[in-house]
Amino acid sequence: MYLASIIDLVRKYDVYRMQTLNLQASENRVSPDVKEALSSDLASRYSHVMEDGNNSYGGASIFEQIFNDAKKNVEKLFHVKHAEIRPIGGHIAVIAAIKSLTEKGDTVYSIGPEGGGYPGYLDAYIPEMLSLRMENIPFKPDVQEIDYDAFASAAKRRRPNLIVLGQSAFVRPYDMARITEIADPAGSRILYDGSHVMGLIAGGKFQPDASVKSDVLVGSTHKSFFGPQGGLILTNDSDLEESFEKNLTWMTMDNMHPNRVAALGIAAEEMLKHGKSYAALVEKNSFSLGHALNEHGIPVRFSPWYSKSHQVLLSPSKDLNFIKFSKKMEDNGIILDRDGRVGTSEISRMGFSDMDSIATLISEAWAGNNVLERVADLVSLLKIEFWR
Ligand SMILES: *Cc1c(COP(=O)(O)O)cnc(C)c1O
Repeated sequence: MYLASIIDLVRKYDVYRMQTLNLQASENRVSPDVKEALSSDLASRYSHVMEDGNNSYGGASIFEQIFNDAKKNVEKLFHVKHAEIRPIGGHIAVIAAIKSLTEKGDTVYSIGPEGGGYPGYLDAYIPEMLSLRMENIPFKPDVQEIDYDAFASAAKRRRPNLIVLGQSAFVRPYDMARITEIADPAGSRILYDGSHVMGLIAGGKFQPDASVKSDVLVGSTHKSFFGPQGGLILTNDSDLEESFEKNLTWMTMDNMHPNRVAALGIAAEEMLKHGKSYAALVEKNSFSLGHALNEHGIPVRFSPWYSKSHQVLLSPSKDLNFIKFSKKMEDNGIILDRDGRVGTSEISRMGFSDMDSIATLISEAWAGNNVLERVADLVSLLKIEFWR
């Protein structure tokens, strides 16, 4: 029997993905420079600087320089005093940050599933692991807004130790002045989980003051940010920095993946150069795509503003089942998640702005036409921008 080797499948996969249009809100595309760093010799190395300043591993001095530069790039980009760049994923960054900000038995508030909150904050996951009592922030899903009045009275009663902001279905920023008014008298600290919107924050959009108006900004580096996959913990509070490190190395991870750190440093350089134009294009594209999809009969929530982020949310109905929709799009070379989110990060990374053409392809495919070749033709004209 002939067994295809995995490298053949990887090549096949790459060819396949290069012919498809990626509209997944959690994903983006990395530049050739970032890819080069990811597949460099660093991919199989370690580096760990001990308290006495020595590295536990030999041969790491050039990487130490890479690490320090990458850290500086990220601090400059997000205007923060301290960037923890080691977390190998957003989820790990969140766990280490929450562990640094809470004790066992503490009460924490986060946005629940009806508000598009992150599943990791459900009782069975992070609260279970860190022995926390998790409550839902009162939320108005119809307008995608926190119910600030209801939250203020809940916080007055329960005095949460920590408030976690951020959503996975994230289309609207918060009123941070109101959050501060609620958190301060209750003595609550604020963790802003910007996983989805880190690339927008870096480019001065969505909620650019998130790191100033919270105690800690945490998030993934590969959703609206320029990759690679990983996480960040950012703060201006020098007392917290050491605690983050303690809750990472040998607690939630060991090897920081030096190739990923190098790639992150490059992505941050790209963001420093081009983040503003990219984030502005993402915001514009989301609005245009929401509008165009609605015009073409694919209902999008929150008309007439649709979204301030890198994703629009489809409106579920008996005629629009998200799983069926996503599978039908996949048959036509259009890649979407199965939660009704349509993302604009990757098409914006390709410098594309004709949202009407995308809405046309989506609506024709949903109506039963085969648009596979037209999608491949469109994608063949796109190339990655915003990198050198
Ligand atoms: C995606 C996501 C995470 C987890 O990030 P990973 O990088 O996938 O580990 C955490 N919080 C929120 C709000 C997310 O959307």
